[in-house]
Amino acid sequence: MIGVVRRAAAAVLVAAVCGWLSTLAPDDGPVRLTAAKDKAPERRSEVPKPKPKPPPPDCTRVKCLALTFDDGPAESTGELLDILASRNVKATFFLVGENVAEHPDLVRREHAAGHEIADHSYTHADLGRASKKTIVSELTRTQDAIRNASGVTSKLLRPPYGSTSERLARITRRMGMAQVLWTVDPFDWRHRESDDIERRVLKQAKPGSIVLLHDIHPTTVRAVPEIIDKLAAKGYVFVTVTELFGGKLTPGKEYRELESGDGQGLP
Ligand SMILES: [Zn+2]
Repeated sequence: MIGVVRRAAAAVLVAAVCGWLSTLAPDDGPVRLTAAKDKAPERRSEVPKPKPKPPPPDCTRVKCLALTFDDGPAESTGELLDILASRNVKATFFLVGENVAEHPDLVRREHAAGHEIADHSYTHADLGRASKKTIVSELTRTQDAIRNASGVTSKLLRPPYGSTSERLARITRRMGMAQVLWTVDPFDWRHRESDDIERRVLKQAKPGSIVLLHDIHPTTVRAVPEIIDKLAAKGYVFVTVTELFGGKLTPGKEYRELESGDGQGLP
């Protein structure tokens, strides 16, 4: 009698455990699958790949010029991208990290259109006077923001105000970034007249120049069509900063223009 009760009790227990397991299994499976799907890196798949580019010109032999745009992205950047696309011109954008975080879509557009994307610090800091800790934080945060938005690891830094130092040179060398300054500065942040900006750029431009502009100012963006059309009429070809130097920039080093014999193909 006792044995029968024990067997019956054991059977009830087994049935209960099996029932408990069978209710767990179907619920648990799909939940885990859904969670795995949610964790899939969707951001990466949304980043458009840039179109394959034709080989860049040899800037030691043709009249190259690099248009560069600082401090964005901002509202006016979209209009600039339309202008550059309509003329098939590639430029270089030196981005402020906090603006990248605000407008990642514009950074993706810049990259997808084949423009070069570069670092201009996170808060537009005076890196030449900054401590090692501040420099590393400013650069790392901007690199991360650019990478999150576009998948690109920037190889160029333009120190805000052109303010650099031995310390900054050392840190950029370690981080694998060249420092890019400029040849032509129309002071477009001060002179908010499109005609004036255009005149200053045309007057100063020469083969191998790096032109400093700011796409955060609509007056600058409106000057760009005439700048491009008039320089193109003089035989200029527009390239990114890395293309200007034949793809060879040394981390830590400062670049202001392509001097003759500086690029590829010549001794
Ligand atoms: Zn700036």
